[in-house]
Formats: sequence, structure tokens, C-alpha cells
Amino acid sequence: MVSKILIVEDEQGVVQLLRARLEPEGFQVITAYNGQTGLRAVAEARPDLVILDLTLPELDGFEFCRRIRRQPETARLPILVLSGRIEPVDKVVMLELGADDYVTKPFDTKELVARVKTLLRRVSTPALPRVLRVGTLELDLERHIVLVASLPISLTAKEFELLKALLEAKERTLTRAFLLEKVWEYGEELEIETRTVDVHIRSLRKKLGSEGARIITVRNVGYRLETTSPHVNPASLDEEAPALE
Ligand code: CA
Repeated sequence: MVSKILIVEDEQGVVQLLRARLEPEGFQVITAYNGQTGLRAVAEARPDLVILDLTLPELDGFEFCRRIRRQPETARLPILVLSGRIEPVDKVVMLELGADDYVTKPFDTKELVARVKTLLRRVSTPALPRVLRVGTLELDLERHIVLVASLPISLTAKEFELLKALLEAKERTLTRAFLLEKVWEYGEELEIETRTVDVHIRSLRKKLGSEGARIITVRNVGYRLETTSPHVNPASLDEEAPALE
């Protein structure tokens, strides 16, 4: 798919230079020479990325950015600011307004094209799942929180890491040795025993309430997390401390 790039810039020379560099790279280039026309072009032509000058007639780059971000349908449109202004305060303001990148004039066209490509790639790559889910259990990797039926559960750092490992394993059984290595640091490992894993699992199960029963003890091996229907077998809850061979 051909990416459409809108250049909002009042200097004809700069527009021509950018067009000459972008079109051979396979981009479709559209242009607007002031902020108002730029806004109209965004609404009508639906570009994939905007290269935006800051000092523009009619409506400047700052206001342009603000308006684009305010509209839900363009809130995530990549904006690369191109400006002769080099005051650091402008950079901060632009980033606060939601510009994705910033290049100051005079600029290297090769570098600019590389930045355009990077921005477009970032948008087209679907983000890795940042929330692991099973049943009503949710583990949010970014916010570092765990919810059961939408209610936050307070876990220790080790419990959080244990649960994360179990969720990521997707039903695979994880051995105590694996969990020790994954969740506890090597230095700590020397002083703790595999039984420590059992203690933490027991506490984790209790805190997870109704979803705790998903953590299944695999006798003499370790643990796995049931992802299908919650395994509500009270007997399994008594198996936390199986005899180790
Ligand atoms: Ca200008």
C-alpha cells in the first residue's frame, strides 16, 4: 500500500525538495501552503503522515497540531515537525502538543526520509499485547496492575512475576526450577528453596479469589495456568505442597 504524505509548508523550495526526495521512495505526496488548507487536506485526503512547518500563514503549526489531536479520528496521525525555530522550548511544546518527531532546518533530506519511514513503521506495527487476560483475570504489563473481575488485586513483586510467567506460558507446565530462575534473581536463588515457589503460589491463589483455582499444581513438577473454564476443584487447592522426589 502506498503511504500518503501531506506536507504543510509555505516555502515552495522546501516543498519541492521534499517532494523530490519522497516520491522516488514510492510515497504519494500532497501539499498545503498554509494551516487552514492543511487541515482541509487532512480531512479530505486522509494522509498517513504529516510533515508540518511551524511558522505558517493563517493557522500556525502549533494550532494545527492542537486541532488534529483534538479530533478522535486524527488523534494518532503521525506528525513530523519541520521548522527553522530551534529554541528548545518549541521542541518541548511540540512534543506536549503531540508531535511525533521534530527536525530543524536546515535538514538532511536523507535523515528526514529515514524518520518518515520509522514513524510509518511504528504506526503499522501492531503493538504487542500489553494486557494478558484469561477469564476475568487481567494482568496489565504497562501499568503493572492485576485485576480480577475489574477489581484491583494487590500483589507483591514476586507474585506479579509468577502470575505473568504462568499467563505467558499458556497452559504449559512450568517447573519450580524454571520459576525460580525466572522470578528470583540468581543471587537470591542460592538462599531460597523450591519450596519458596509453593509458598508464593499459595498466597497468589488466595489473593486471586475465584480465579485462583486456575493455577493448577502438577504433582512433582510445578504449576500451570488453566486458561479454559475455571477449574473449581477444591481438592486441587490442597495440593500446594506435594512431596518432591
Ligand atoms: Ca514557514
